[in-house]
Amino acid sequence: MKAQDGMYIDGAWRPAAGADTIEVVNPVDEQVIGRVPAGTPEDVDTAVRAARAAFPGWAATPPAERAAKLTALRDVLVARKDEIAETVTAELGSPLPFSQTVHAGVPIAVAGSYAELAATYPFEEKVGNSTVYQEPVGVVGAITPWNYPLHQIVAKVAPALAAGCTVVLKPAEDTPLTAQLFAEAVAEAGVPAGVFNLVTGLGPVAGQALAEHPDVDLVSFTGSTAVGKRIGATAGAAVKRVALELGGKSANVILPSADLAKAVNVGVANVMSNSGQTCSAWTRMLVHTARYDEAVELAAAAAAKYGDRIGPVVSAKQQARVRSYIEKGVAEGARLVAGGPESPRDQGYFVSPTVFADVTPDVTIAQEEIFGPVLSIIRYEDEEDAVRIANGTVYGLAGAVWGDDEAEAVAFARRLDTGQVDINGGRFNPLAPFGGYKQSGVGRELGSHGLSEYLQTKSLQF
Ligand code: NAD
Repeated sequence: MKAQDGMYIDGAWRPAAGADTIEVVNPVDEQVIGRVPAGTPEDVDTAVRAARAAFPGWAATPPAERAAKLTALRDVLVARKDEIAETVTAELGSPLPFSQTVHAGVPIAVAGSYAELAATYPFEEKVGNSTVYQEPVGVVGAITPWNYPLHQIVAKVAPALAAGCTVVLKPAEDTPLTAQLFAEAVAEAGVPAGVFNLVTGLGPVAGQALAEHPDVDLVSFTGSTAVGKRIGATAGAAVKRVALELGGKSANVILPSADLAKAVNVGVANVMSNSGQTCSAWTRMLVHTARYDEAVELAAAAAAKYGDRIGPVVSAKQQARVRSYIEKGVAEGARLVAGGPESPRDQGYFVSPTVFADVTPDVTIAQEEIFGPVLSIIRYEDEEDAVRIANGTVYGLAGAVWGDDEAEAVAFARRLDTGQVDINGGRFNPLAPFGGYKQSGVGRELGSHGLSEYLQTKSLQF
């Protein structure tokens, strides 16, 4: 797709207030593929004013009509799915088949789910002598990362629009073309002017201006824990609603009774998928000491099969960051059994699929989010030990449990301090609430739980 040289504000592409631009780079060949405007606080202010002006009309639009616009938006995403996949591949570097099924496919499913929820959600209920209304919170400032560029936009904008909120989006600087394509889709779907607005720009400039804007009622942020903490503090000081989807260091717990080969192979695939740039990835594999060596062998073989087919990571900065973690793993005494810090190609931001064995629970690579194709395999002695290790990080976003007896796996999963657990390879469910315990975040996305983040409650007594 061709980059737009303006901001999508109040239903039209408008010139940015400043002249600065951001280069978009293809991580496979390091070539510049486009330039987008670097928004300023002035652009953010114009967009927030447009969203504020559009709010009363959109909030008063009957849910069935909002649902119809979301259905139209879903249909445009379906019609443009090949273009979406190609754009994500160009700016994120993910292999095209993955972009087609996941980066384009999942947002279509999520947009469709909110079209249905907008039409069926009980925005009004009777509680004794009261009528309780669920009303939209107001103007939403949405700040998204690059790792699932369209999914993270749709997971915020679709429920916000379903709820009757209006939105200003500041997407990640690495993947703004996908965000521009989404804005085009919103326009094509006939969503009224000002209901959705896009300001591209740098995080500490445009992102910060949006998070601090006094006329934004709710900030919904996905990204690093460091930035999330700042945004949470800013929102707290202004007594404004905030939703934070932050990092993860999830555990894949393989109980002694599990089908080991399946659990290891699915676990490795989970970590390597999207080049490891998934906040909910199961980056710590916990294996009972009796089956540890066998699991390490299986994981090393599985990782070696991927080679450079997983695609690069998003940027030179991210590549350097991941490689420094791999070097740190070696320095801290973990045993490299696949991959390593050297790039498998001369060009592009590639990182070898990497597996560490003999990782102890407290070392850096077992505690910090690496956000690259790096798996740590940790040994446990008994169930209590496994629970302690699994829960022994500041994060709690996702996880997995494998066991021959489903009830045993479920009982174990209930002891994990984490927001989502897949049992024996359970499938992704776009309606299941997604979000973190502990420092993985505040609030939930997806399904009706995701919708309620954008609603506030009013009760009338009779
Ligand atoms: P980041 O937190 O810096 O960026 C995420 C978004 O926040 C981007 O749109 C960015 O422009 C914006 N932003 C940055 N600074 C801001 C500020 N001061 N005020 C307001 N907005 C700001 O994350 P990143 O640089 O894209 O990635 C760094 C690390 O974050 C990754 O390596 C990974 O560990 C983590 N991450 C997590 C997720 C997730 O889904 N949980 C997604 C992407 C990255």
